[in-house]
Amino acid sequence: MNKTGIGFDAHRLVAGRKLILGGVCFDHPLGLEGHSDADVLCHAIADALLGAVADGDIGDHFPDSDPQWKDANSLELLARVRERLEARRAKIINVDAVVLAEQPKIAPHRKAMCANLARALKIDPDCVSVKATTMEGLGTVGRKEGIAVMAVVAVEQG
Ligand code: MG
Repeated sequence: MNKTGIGFDAHRLVAGRKLILGGVCFDHPLGLEGHSDADVLCHAIADALLGAVADGDIGDHFPDSDPQWKDANSLELLARVRERLEARRAKIINVDAVVLAEQPKIAPHRKAMCANLARALKIDPDCVSVKATTMEGLGTVGRKEGIAVMAVVAVEQG
């Protein structure tokens, strides 16, 4: 059976944190606030994958109240989500994501991000798409207060 899942996440940009997106550490004066490494791209994709198989969300499986996930590498969380899908006989077909950010430029790092995501998900990098857009100055993202990501996935469940 073919299934799809949708995921969304947003994190606040703050000083004194690293900016990590898709496992790539960006050279940027601000980073994303969060209990884990706050990799908002991994989080949105993880929620989309869990959604595709109706298996709750990352807050259920990796609660920010659990010290185990403090500063967690979100690529590892994504790999754990992939294992949850494998246990449900769900094969990931493709991943598509949009990063909403005024800064920094995402495109120069897109290939590295897709490669990291593909490795964590054990799928071909050609099946992982990461796009980016600004919000043209509109809203919280437009005011550079944070970064948000929307993700959609397709899976085949046997
Ligand atoms: Mg998050």
